[in-house]
Amino acid sequence: MKKIFALIVTLATPMTANALNIFVCEPEWSALIMEIAGDEHEITIATSAFQDPHSLQARPSLIAAVRDADLLVCTGADLEIGWLPLLLRRSGNPSIQPGNPGYFLAANYVRRLEIPKLIDRSQGDVHPQGNPHIHLHPRNISRVADALAERLSEINPGSSAKYAAALEYFQHRWDESVNLWSERAAPLGGMRLASHHRSFSYLADWLELDIVATLESKPGIPPSGAQLATLLEQLSPNPPAGVIRTPYENEKPSQWLSERLNIPEIQLPFTIGGTDKAVDLFTLYDETIRMLEEYAN
Ligand SMILES: [Zn+2]
Repeated sequence: MKKIFALIVTLATPMTANALNIFVCEPEWSALIMEIAGDEHEITIATSAFQDPHSLQARPSLIAAVRDADLLVCTGADLEIGWLPLLLRRSGNPSIQPGNPGYFLAANYVRRLEIPKLIDRSQGDVHPQGNPHIHLHPRNISRVADALAERLSEINPGSSAKYAAALEYFQHRWDESVNLWSERAAPLGGMRLASHHRSFSYLADWLELDIVATLESKPGIPPSGAQLATLLEQLSPNPPAGVIRTPYENEKPSQWLSERLNIPEIQLPFTIGGTDKAVDLFTLYDETIRMLEEYAN
């Protein structure tokens, strides 16, 4: 009888005592948590592939989720500056405030691109801390995975051996996949593309894509008709292979330009859920490369 009781306790403990409430700002970090921690935790994701992480409404349901959170995992680098500070303030939850172990920003662990020499928020630049869209460079994923596993272990030491094993397994599979992707995508090097927003700078850095034009004059500033006309004139003699954008960005400027240049307008998945097939980090990268291959000359 004693033996049976002990067994029940052992089985019951991991289900209840170790389960954390995790608030995640973007789907890519939720996917990374799943790789390291499986589905033992309750995850609330603030945005989807179809919502701009730069701007979000601080809905009551989100405030409630932050209030209950043991860990908050966001991109940082000011990506969520328009809404996350408000959620944090309204949550009244001390454990996930900046500086505490429950507050984790992925961009703190990578080398950021496009850090401006002069920060000028007055003109509406939404990338004052450098480009925050870090997740489409595989090296960044790898670094954030290390840091995230460490943080999960700090908050939930009972599962640290499990996290370490899962991290090792993930990094091994990730390295293998990155080698295959790099080899396969080598012919994409030098592919010329226009981009609505600077959403794909890290992808371009990795695959050596040539982003010849960005439709927004500054990150976050919608292009005016005059600016688009200028771009059309500049790109007409040698049009790029396509105009790329995320699922959440306004398609009109990209469509306008693509129609006039007679080039495809390409909505890449950008993050998990951006297409039906992009269900985790591996398939997100697969899909992104496959779509670029489709449009490469
Ligand atoms: Zn941005």
